[in-house]
Amino acid sequence: MTTRLLERRPGRLEIGQADGIQARSVETFQAFGFAERIIAEAYRITEMCFWKPDPNDPATIVRSARTPDDETGISEFPHLIVNQARVLDYFAESAERGPARITPHYGWEFKKLTVEDEGDYPVRVELAGCAEHNQGVERTVRAKYVLGADGAHSRVRDSIGARHFGDVANHAWGVMDVLAVSDFPDYRTKCAISSQAGSILHIPREGGYLCRMYIDLGVVSADDNKAVRKTPIETIIRKANEILHPYTLDVRNVAWWSVYEVDHRVTDPFDDVPVDQAGEKLPHVFIAGDACHTHSAKAGQGMNVSMQDGFNLGWKHGQVLTGRSPESLLSTYSQERHVIARNLIEFDRKWSSIMAVNAKELEEPAEEFYVKTFEFPAGFMTQNEPSMIVGEATHQELAADFPIGKRFKSR
Ligand SMILES: Cc1cc2nc3c(=O)[nH]c(=O)nc-3n(C[C@H](O)[C@H](O)[C@H](O)COP(=O)(O)OP(=O)(O)OC[C@H]3O[C@@H](n4cnc5c(N)ncnc54)[C@H](O)[C@@H]3O)c2cc1C
Repeated sequence: MTTRLLERRPGRLEIGQADGIQARSVETFQAFGFAERIIAEAYRITEMCFWKPDPNDPATIVRSARTPDDETGISEFPHLIVNQARVLDYFAESAERGPARITPHYGWEFKKLTVEDEGDYPVRVELAGCAEHNQGVERTVRAKYVLGADGAHSRVRDSIGARHFGDVANHAWGVMDVLAVSDFPDYRTKCAISSQAGSILHIPREGGYLCRMYIDLGVVSADDNKAVRKTPIETIIRKANEILHPYTLDVRNVAWWSVYEVDHRVTDPFDDVPVDQAGEKLPHVFIAGDACHTHSAKAGQGMNVSMQDGFNLGWKHGQVLTGRSPESLLSTYSQERHVIARNLIEFDRKWSSIMAVNAKELEEPAEEFYVKTFEFPAGFMTQNEPSMIVGEATHQELAADFPIGKRFKSR
């Protein structure tokens, strides 16, 4: 198989972006042979603390719960914190050493594509060089299949006319990786902190020194025009200190920071076959990850669910391109992953509202929801519906503990 991997950045991702690795992802890393190495360099989450306003002095915060991670033993794989850049490094190494010897072509920007009705290579992709060495160079590539994993502003999605449904961005977050001196008692534990001044998701980073904080910058008004993205780091640090009061955060160095807006959106479908023609046409263009589902970072799902999209598509393309399965197998990608994306967005809305700023009288405390629903964010709730590769549950009683369409438990 010949595979081309295009990326407009000039080189590898160095810092920033997502960092929470769920157990199901670590299980996937094992399939690629690098689970042990990434576990060794990661921060391992074994518990999470919840902080809320002190009932006796609501202007200050107090720890309300300390919950174990994976209390019911859903997986033997750990829950990790490790930078997305390292995850990409390991996958890149695996791709380079694999039979197809794939290395990314950095510095190429996808412009648009068209799908023709006939021929072995029906997708025509137009590219432009955007690195120093190839500025102004244009290329056209013919492909059998194209996967757009080009993020929330996906041009591949636009090229196939797929619509992105949901609310527009309306909530802003500041995120920072910092070296700091703090008297906050749970500084080296993952925490959800909710105070009268707002909320923080606090995550100690691998290596033992840095920590990451997601700081709620609140709802963005419709006429904000992206002004919130210009929020300076000093404002974010000040806000963090207000939320942590009476504790303090003395930031000595900022390794990376960003401001981003969050929406809840999902695309339908995840391939180039219009919904009303599903099953009649074969797909040739697919979208995965943020290109087809976006949500908040609070449940740490962005990178994890996106990797499972890719894994789902990867094995199916392997089967089809080596002649082991009919091309129609590829239609199951959108069917299976679209359900997951919708469930994810529903889960994220609930989790975000539970952790929302000034959440006072919740029907269900955040810590209870976290423990009760842990199987979902850990990545093990996926249960595919009947299709050409998943049978009906007609004889489910013969193996009652092994739900049809769901991954077998490994214990
Ligand atoms: C700045 C930023 C901060 C984030 N922070 C967090 C976080 O703190 N926690 C969290 O859970 N999630 C975070 N996310 C989201 C998380 O990183 C994503 O859910 C996850 O990376 C999804 O992976 P993806 O491959 O679908 O998209 P991305 O990681 O966005 O990757 C898309 C890639 O496509 C490339 N690309 C885009 N357009 C083109 C084009 N036209 N031609 C060529 N290449 C193109 C981009 O350069 C990028 O490398 C963040 C995302 C961003 C962009």
